[in-house]
Amino acid sequence: MTTILDGKQTANTLMADLKDTVSAMRAQGVTPGLAVVLVGDDPASAIYVRNKQRRAEGLGINSVKKTMPATTTQAELLAVIDALNHDASIDGILVQLPLPAQIDADTVIEAIDPNKDVDGFHPVNVGRLWTHTPGVVASTPFGIMALLAHYDIDVTGMNAVVVGRSNIVGRPMAGLLLNHNATVTIAHSKTKDLAAVTRQADLLVVATGLPEFITAEMVNPGAIVIDVGMDRNAAGQLVGDVDYAAVAPIAGAITPVPGGVGPMTIAALMMQTVELAKRRLNA
Ligand code: NAP
Repeated sequence: MTTILDGKQTANTLMADLKDTVSAMRAQGVTPGLAVVLVGDDPASAIYVRNKQRRAEGLGINSVKKTMPATTTQAELLAVIDALNHDASIDGILVQLPLPAQIDADTVIEAIDPNKDVDGFHPVNVGRLWTHTPGVVASTPFGIMALLAHYDIDVTGMNAVVVGRSNIVGRPMAGLLLNHNATVTIAHSKTKDLAAVTRQADLLVVATGLPEFITAEMVNPGAIVIDVGMDRNAAGQLVGDVDYAAVAPIAGAITPVPGGVGPMTIAALMMQTVELAKRRLNA
């Protein structure tokens, strides 16, 4: 029997607990604060930002949205970040990507105070991940680890294969799995005989952006399959990077798309915002 790793239900359970945590913190005078900066009018970005804000507000987190026009200069954006860095009511700062062409995303990420960098993209937090020291971790991999933990899946000693090496998913995923004692392989577009690599996986995490790319022949029967993809197939339907219909029957456990990794990503953002705010309780 394949276990369906239900990210929606897991996120709801974790968020109910988090809501209690936030209300206890508020009673002690600390309201976690999340600032989301949206530059330009990319419709997908606007939806992501709205979803994050709704979730934050539902938990009792103070959600602050800074909307800036597509013509914003880099200096103007850096000034907003600097103000947020110095705003004691803000614990987490997130700049929604992508940014307009005149703005260099790396410069912007590096301008965020690493201790407020709730996306975990700042090089200091990347370094903390790879030196296995406490820091903020990118939301998607953090959410995947929370999902595995919720299902009591211990990755210790597992052969974990991560397909994809982006800064927001593949690389931090590999770092977290390594920190949790998995034996990790990172595959990418230059990997030779990918199927031979993926078939070695006890745990297969796929983040390629290629619709239904992972077929049943590429999966070790009984493997745990985590599908990060959010893609459109030829018919325009939302699908993952894994051919779910073919792989689900042979997998030991699998995440659906939608309802798997997506809801856990947003939950992870909330969990880490609250963690960052906890420091104010002891200040
Ligand atoms: P990305 O930056 O485009 O990276 C894709 C990775 O896949 C690259 O490392 C690339 O290798 C690798 N790749 C491409 N073709 C390949 C092939 N034929 N064989 C093996 N590897 C291949 O994508 P991303 O930002 O990581 O996102 C990946 C997917 O996850 C997208 O569908 C995105 O929408 C989704 N996503 C979902 C969430 C969520 O919350 N659910 C969050 C983030 C992303 P190279 O490095 O060699 O080019």
